[in-house]
Amino acid sequence: MERIGVDALLVAHSPNMRYFTGFTGGEGILLVLPPEQILFVDARYTLRARAECSGVTVREAVRPVEAAAEVLKGKGILRVGLETAHLTVDRFRQVRRLLGNLRVKSLKDRLDTLRMVKDAGEIDKIQRAIDIHTGALYETLAWLTPDMTERDWAVEFEYRARRHGAAALAFETIVASGPRSAIPHATADPVVLADDGPIVFDHGVVYEGYCSDETATFFPRPPSGEFREIYRIVQEAHDRAIAAVRPGLPAAAIDAAARDFIREAGYGEAFTHGTGHGVGLEIHERPTIGPRDTTRLEPGMVFTVEPGIYLNGRGGVRIEDMVCVTDEGCRVLTKCPKSLTVIFENS
Ligand code: ZN
Ligand code: ZN
Repeated sequence: MERIGVDALLVAHSPNMRYFTGFTGGEGILLVLPPEQILFVDARYTLRARAECSGVTVREAVRPVEAAAEVLKGKGILRVGLETAHLTVDRFRQVRRLLGNLRVKSLKDRLDTLRMVKDAGEIDKIQRAIDIHTGALYETLAWLTPDMTERDWAVEFEYRARRHGAAALAFETIVASGPRSAIPHATADPVVLADDGPIVFDHGVVYEGYCSDETATFFPRPPSGEFREIYRIVQEAHDRAIAAVRPGLPAAAIDAAARDFIREAGYGEAFTHGTGHGVGLEIHERPTIGPRDTTRLEPGMVFTVEPGIYLNGRGGVRIEDMVCVTDEGCRVLTKCPKSLTVIFENS
């Protein structure tokens, strides 16, 4: 706070509120006013906040934001930091008005960067989320038959993941088969699995607030030479990006390791998204593993590596793993092997 020149912070983005206080309720506002942290919540959350937060003053208020503004005005605080990247225009105007003459400093998403480096306890929770989704995936694959729909697969995966202890899905599971696999963020539709071409399965769960994220691309039957070659290129790009990870490098260098290889193989235009993203209390968080992110990698950062090639109308391949930066390089956290896998070979 000293470095960014503010005397107080108003934190309303729920992952940051949770990170600072342990409060899982999501609604309310946290006033960081050293040496105190005051969490303002309405009556629905008072008991929960008191049980979850230690070292934090919990105050019940009908209108939490107004109550926080009153405290600030009463203290004569001059400079208040706001997470402007996470406020709607209306909410920002409301807070601005309530703060009267206090000076407001826009922090954009700067507080999010405090969450980039994970401690051992956070990595354990992420690992547990991965173990849950991996177990659920293998059970679902054993149950799956070629006459099922994409949605059957997604629903069965969710059921098993929740039985294994997932609090929720980290995002809507993607099952995209045949030509639909060319849509990077497809949904799982009520259509029978295509009997040819790739099946992109992108999945993740939440365990104690922490997310997991992994993509395996399967084939219902042995793929054509073209998709075999595309799979090989994506796998090599993925392996090169993981091999490039080491502390001190900018995030963009990891993106370049995958992107340059795909471009040289002639598919540059078909790799339409970033190489990865941080994962933690949010499924997409800092750093961004893309061409423009200059964030220097540090041990403890957790992010995905997920290059893909998408051919409109024909199909796509994406291979995604989660890694944790170590002192020398990185450790792959996800478990599912990424060699080319045919799932209905005997049918
Ligand atoms: Zn994913
Ligand atoms: Zn991802």
